[in-house]
Amino acid sequence: MARIALVTGGIGGIGTSICTRLAQDGCRVVANHHPSEVDAADEWKKARAEEGYDIATFSADVSSFEDSTRMVKEITEQFGPVEVLINCAGITRDKTFRKMEAAQWQAVINVNLNSVFNVTRQVWEGMLERGFGRIINISSVNGQRGQFGQANYAAAKAGMHGVTMTLAQEGASKGVTVNTVSPGYVETAMTLAMDDDIRNGIISGIPMRRMAQPSDVSSAIAFLVSDQAAYITGANLPVNGGLFMH
Ligand code: NAP
Repeated sequence: MARIALVTGGIGGIGTSICTRLAQDGCRVVANHHPSEVDAADEWKKARAEEGYDIATFSADVSSFEDSTRMVKEITEQFGPVEVLINCAGITRDKTFRKMEAAQWQAVINVNLNSVFNVTRQVWEGMLERGFGRIINISSVNGQRGQFGQANYAAAKAGMHGVTMTLAQEGASKGVTVNTVSPGYVETAMTLAMDDDIRNGIISGIPMRRMAQPSDVSSAIAFLVSDQAAYITGANLPVNGGLFMH
């Protein structure tokens, strides 16, 4: 039977690649999107169908515990229990710390970090009881090394890996693995919109001299989801072209 895989932020740049790759690998994929993106999600679903993918879309603001509870309940009723969870929803609100407002701090912590609690909490007990689960938290190289103007984002992304290491210990004897994937710069709409000189400056600092393709990230995730990765838990896998090593 196909495993049910939920990808939060599933209609975004990296999320789309994760959804299609997991579908190729035989999962029944459910893509979460923000409630403000209902029309975009419909378009996205149609575009995936044209490519041959049957991917369900579910709306929820994952920064809300209540909305996450409702969404996972609906997914479970419609498809069955979530066995694979990819926490991918994320936002940035960059500002140097001296100019950062509380709202910018809180928004980034709520969406990037609190969402991991809000959604994972819904599926965790079931995974432990059934003796199988895969959870992957999409962090960032900037959670590992910090980044000028991103105190909020770096804090949230570093915090995600703290959750990963703890849940990895709590789930290890029950067949549930929990890992972090930390991409470097990925070629998505966000990075393609940068001025050429900024983009080229970033690329010249990457040992591989290119940004990641979304598929570089989704293939790492597909491996961690697979049975071949059953003994890997609590890891923080960099997908950054050599940008940061530790
Ligand atoms: P993206 O295209 O903006 O995708 C993020 C998705 O999350 C969007 O569809 C976004 O919807 C959704 N989202 C935001 N807030 C949400 C909420 N409260 N509830 C539900 N969904 C919400 O960005 P991406 O580049 O694919 O990034 C995906 C993940 O990878 C993020 O966690 C990001 O931090 C991480 N990452 C990205 C890069 C990179 O270079 N692109 C590098 C390292 C890590 P809206 O469009 O409505 O906001």
